[in-house]
Amino acid sequence: MISRVKTAGNGPEPLSYYVKMAIRPIRVFGDPVLRAPSQPVTDFDASLRRLVADLGDTLSDADGAGLAAPQIGVSLRVFVYVVTDPDMPEFRITSHIVNPELIDQSAELVADREGCLSIPGLEYELARSRRVVARGFDVNGEPLMVEGTERLARCLAHETDHLDGVLFIDRLDPESRKRAMGEIREMVLGGEDVRVKPSPHAGDY
Ligand SMILES: [Zn+2]
Repeated sequence: MISRVKTAGNGPEPLSYYVKMAIRPIRVFGDPVLRAPSQPVTDFDASLRRLVADLGDTLSDADGAGLAAPQIGVSLRVFVYVVTDPDMPEFRITSHIVNPELIDQSAELVADREGCLSIPGLEYELARSRRVVARGFDVNGEPLMVEGTERLARCLAHETDHLDGVLFIDRLDPESRKRAMGEIREMVLGGEDVRVKPSPHAGDY
């Protein structure tokens, strides 16, 4: 897909150019790749840079908050996520982490609505740590650490789960999980189109 992107140039006029974007299909519930533990990245090479770029393009197209490599069919330990600032609506940065590890998760939990781009249309309240710290690497193999609270903490935990083949519905209490599975069955049996559309929910990962 070719998209026209405007960016600020050095001159007084904004510079326009064309950039090639790679939006990959998002795998949905039922695809075995979502249940397979992903492999650690060992080569910080051009194909990893391509993967991170594709994840970023795909996430931005779906308008979600985070996206892990298995969600586009690649079983590697990489995800991208969006950092926003509620006080600055224009502020939106997409970042990435390779071989992430959650090294700290607060005992204090916060319940909030959560969804997943791989289970479109489903949203449940789920308690997760209010604060998490993740350690990993950037695309060049440089070590990095990211600390998130609230929505970002939720996103980091949700995406790390994806790399272990865990979906957010697995973390629901048994009663909610049963209801969620029923809803998914209805969607599938009803022949509902489960292809991913841009998410109307800010909490889809
Ligand atoms: Zn997800």
